[in-house]
Amino acid sequence: MPRQDIIAQVQKYTNPFRVTRGKDFRLKHFDPGDTLGLQMGRTEAADLLRRGSEWLAMEQDMLYAQDSWSVLIILQAMDAAGKDSTIKHVMARVNPQGCDVHSFKQPSQEELSHAFLWRYSARVPERGRIGIFNRSYYEEVLVVRVHQALLDAQRIPPKLVTRSFWDERLADIARFEDYLTRQGVLVLKFFLNLSRKEQKKRFLARLDTPDKNWKFSPADVRERRYWDDYMHAYEEAIRATATKGAPWYVVPADNKWFTRLVVAAAIVEAIETLDLAYPTVSAEQKAELAAARTELAAEK
Ligand code: ATP
Ligand code: MG
Repeated sequence: MPRQDIIAQVQKYTNPFRVTRGKDFRLKHFDPGDTLGLQMGRTEAADLLRRGSEWLAMEQDMLYAQDSWSVLIILQAMDAAGKDSTIKHVMARVNPQGCDVHSFKQPSQEELSHAFLWRYSARVPERGRIGIFNRSYYEEVLVVRVHQALLDAQRIPPKLVTRSFWDERLADIARFEDYLTRQGVLVLKFFLNLSRKEQKKRFLARLDTPDKNWKFSPADVRERRYWDDYMHAYEEAIRATATKGAPWYVVPADNKWFTRLVVAAAIVEAIETLDLAYPTVSAEQKAELAAARTELAAEK
């Protein structure tokens, strides 16, 4: 299928959720339960997703061969929004050799002793690779903004923690993403937008199903109390950092099949726009290949 047609097909799922101008962004305009009026059966959705992830695998192969662009996929969400399962389903067919996943948890003492972007910057994917950040430097303006004690642990000189501290930190993130973009790192950011009601349902399922118990942490219910603070922090973060070069996708997350579809579509679309092709072989290299072929064929 020609590239333009693929882009046109996937844009149905991505255009409504892409944010490229932070200034206009309001979280309340996005419905966590949205499915664009689509009612798909399980098999139909799974089939579409399978085609998307097969396509992605092909694109990734070219990305690797070209060894020039790289793709950084950032996943942010409240607990139980489906980050892990989205990664599993969307990347299912991608060659593990060309792909890295990093899950960022509470920082270590060593990490806390460095400037805040340090630990993330070291994990940005190399040329030719897809890197997934399961949580990211955005936690530095989300959980750290919601809980003052986490900022205290960073031991920033007090006179630098002014009223504009969070705006400055957001500006630093936006600059960091400009820098990455200009280096050939395609930065795609996903906020899996789960409703508070659906989160409660998923927590209850984790508590009531023995096989899901391990996924539940009592701390998750404590964090839920700060829901509005988190939503405010997310809104501020998206407003300050959504750009054409590094867009946010505010993905409805109350229906998992739809979340996966939108995330897969956005990645396929973005990589398609790079217009990748396999490196071409020069006349000289072709002659070398032919010589190698003759030698191999002549072997006893
Ligand atoms: P899951 O619960 O699905 O296994 P998770 O990403 O929630 O995945 P957890 O181990 O439950 O993983 O939680 C990691 C915790 O680390 C989160 O609560 C997150 O907010 C916190 N965290 C991540 N980055 C930072 C940071 N820079 N400073 C402080 N806390 C952070
Ligand atoms: Mg968790």
